[in-house]
Parts: sequence; C-alpha cells; structure tokens
Amino acid sequence: MDFEYSDSEVAFREEVRNFLRENLPPKAERDRNFLSTWLAEVRARGWVGFSWPKQFGGSDGGLIEQTILKEEMALAKAPPLGSSFMGLAWVGPGIMQYGTQAQKERFIPDILDSKVTWCTGYSEPNHGSDLASIQCKAVRDGDHYVVNGQKTWTSGASWSDWIILLTRTRFDADAKHQGITCLLVPMDAEGLEVRPIENMAGDRHFAEVFFTDVKVPVDQRLGAEGEGWSVTVSALANERSSIGEVTAMFGKLDTLKELVRSTTKQGKPATQDLKTRRTLAMFEAKIAAMKYNGLRYLTKQINGEPLTSETSVNKLHRASLEIEMDDFAVELCGQAGLQLPGGDNAIHNGRWAKASLSWPNVVIGGGTPNIQRNIIAERLLGLPKD
Ligand SMILES: Cc1cc2nc3c(=O)[nH]c(=O)nc-3n(C[C@H](O)[C@H](O)[C@H](O)COP(=O)(O)OP(=O)(O)OC[C@H]3O[C@@H](n4cnc5c(N)ncnc54)[C@H](O)[C@@H]3O)c2cc1C
Repeated sequence: MDFEYSDSEVAFREEVRNFLRENLPPKAERDRNFLSTWLAEVRARGWVGFSWPKQFGGSDGGLIEQTILKEEMALAKAPPLGSSFMGLAWVGPGIMQYGTQAQKERFIPDILDSKVTWCTGYSEPNHGSDLASIQCKAVRDGDHYVVNGQKTWTSGASWSDWIILLTRTRFDADAKHQGITCLLVPMDAEGLEVRPIENMAGDRHFAEVFFTDVKVPVDQRLGAEGEGWSVTVSALANERSSIGEVTAMFGKLDTLKELVRSTTKQGKPATQDLKTRRTLAMFEAKIAAMKYNGLRYLTKQINGEPLTSETSVNKLHRASLEIEMDDFAVELCGQAGLQLPGGDNAIHNGRWAKASLSWPNVVIGGGTPNIQRNIIAERLLGLPKD
C-alpha cells in the first residue's frame, strides 16, 4: 500500500483542519445553540453523507477523503456529522438501495438535514446473535401490516423518531432467514410502547419496545415482503474500515498517558513503573495493528472489492482492547478510579469507572466476541462449523 497522500488529499485534510479550528470551540465555550449550528455547518459543507451519491443529496466523496474526514473529526473529538448515527450508517444506505422513489424522497433528506433520528429494532429477548429466528409478527391486512411482538436493547428508542424494524411475515418458510420483512415505523405509532432499560453505569441508552396491533402502511415496507434479511445484511455491510474508531482509540491512549503522568505508584511517578510502561506500549502496538488492518480493508474497498467477514478481526480486537484500557485506568487510580461522575474524588470526572462499566457498548453491541470468533474461524480460516 502507498502511504503517501496526493496533493488534493493533503489539501482536503487542511480544509477539514481549518474548518475545525474555526468552528469547533473548546467544550467549555460551547453554548446551547452550538450543536444545531455545527450540524448545519457540516451539512452545508457536504460532509454529512459525504460518500452518498449526489442524486440523493450526498457528495459522491471518495473513500480516502472520507477516511481523512473521519480521522480529523476523531482527532479533534468533534461531535458527530449528523444527529442520526443509525440513519447515516445503515438506514439511509438501506433506503437508497432498496427503497421506493417515494421512500427516498420522504426519508433521505431528513436524515441528511439531521431532522430525524432513527433506531434499530432487530434484537428480541430470545433472538440476538441468532437474529434470523426473530418472532415479532407482521400480518398483512389490506394496505397495512399489523405488528405484534417485542424488541429489546433498542439503542436510542426513547428519543428516536423512527425505527427500522425486522418482523416475521411467514412462519412456515424453509429457512429461518426467509419470511422476514423490514418495516419503517414512526415511534409515535399507536400501540408502540418504549420502556427504557438502565445499564450498569446508570445510563438509559437502550430500551425494550413493545408492539400491540401497530398498523404500518404497506408503503412503509423497505424492500419486498420476505426479503428483509437481505435488506439487513447489505445495510449493515455499510459499516466499514474502522479507521475513525482507531483514531479515537489513539486519542484515548493519549488521555491514558496523561493519567499515568499525573499518578504515582508506590511513591514514585507511575511513568517510572516498568509494568505500566510496558502496558502502555502494548496498547500502542495493538492500536497500530488495528490501524494497519483498517488500512488493509480500505485498500480492498479502493480496489472495488467488497468487504465481508474480515472486519470481524478489528471488531474483536477492539472489544478486548477497550476493556483492557478502561480496567488499566481504574486500577491505576486505586479507589478514586472506581468513582462514577459526581463522586467526591472522581478522576477525569469518573470517566474511567463509567467506561469500565459500559463495556457492553463496544463488546456486545453489533455482535458478541463469540460470534466474531465463529465468523473468523469459519469464514476466514476455513475451520469446521461450530
Ligand atoms: C449497548 C448495546 C446496544 C445495543 N443496541 C441494539 C440496537 O440498537 N438494536 C438491536 O436490535 N440490538 C441492539 N443490541 C443487541 C445486540 O445486538 C445483542 O445483544 C447481541 O447481538 C447479542 O444477542 P443477545 O443479547 O440475545 O445474546 P445471545 O445471542 O443470547 O448470546 C449470549 C451469549 O451466548 C453466546 N453465543 C450465542 N450464540 C453463539 C454461538 N452460535 N456460538 C458461540 N457462542 C454463542 C454469545 O457470544 C453470548 O456470550 C445492543 C446491545 C448492546 C449491549
């Protein structure tokens, strides 16, 4: 791989950096209007849906520029480039690929303009890893589907406007991934109830969502009836090279190094402790490995090759590394490290204690480590099926 950037890529990076210098004030100086101004500014620049085709309101941006954009945003710890992470990551791409013209016109501009937030109703109480077995039922009744069932762990359900919902429309299909249908449902639909779930760190980011005779017009079905599995698989495949996450992890490592510099261990600066130094070096090496893996994925994409199971390697790697880094920080700080935000002696406002209790976000969300290991073993290494 050629690690050099072209002149226009270097110029683009400079443009992003200049923009950040001028438009991203330090956190303490941001007022109540900051976020809406930020979202409007990045939209005006064409950086929301940067790689989406122009015909849908995107910028047709190239892969390398997109990576530069993600890198610089992560380096600057900037807010997201849009209010709906899921809308941009998979709902929008799914609608562009499978939606009707009317759906594209109705939903895409609002995602790009940060007017609506989407959540994802895939997992059910007994069907997470084994997603193809979902049971939430949709029965066709004239020009509507009537939905009954339950979803769980639905991130952002309490504040989202719409949900992309997987339902079962056939119970007698030969294979379980057949007979699944994808519906787009407003969160204020009659019969839809959201019950927030509190996680270990005290946050209420996800929820259970109950559907009782919820009527969904047929024109809010995404893709053909029974084709919901393909819609989901190809939509989720839009989540890509992990370069943005890698940059954020380098940022987190920098904060960890600061923490080490300000800590003593057995009466001496922690920077002189051999084990501490080795651990930091190991973190750095592991993040670098993720970076080069991410660049390998990027090279494949630039060469027009689709990415498939290989992205499980970085997902798995990141899951264990995030836990190791958070636990290291908590241990380094001793008792104060265990204090959550608001605690009397909380270090970095309880960031590390909170992070170490929030590990399911990166470890389980999007597929558990066991599932990633199965994918790597079976599809990448060709080992026998589990
Ligand atoms: C923070 C967070 C946010 C989430 N957000 C959403 C969301 O927005 N929308 C949504 O739909 N879902 C969401 N989820 C749900 C998530 O996708 C599921 O929790 C995940 O897929 C695992 O499913 P499960 O919880 O049913 O666990 P299970 O599938 O029951 O797994 C339990 C354990 O068994 C193991 N296991 C299962 N099958 C196998 C196998 N074949 N081989 C080996 N081991 C196996 C798993 O690795 C795990 O350790 C979220 C979860 C979390 C933690």
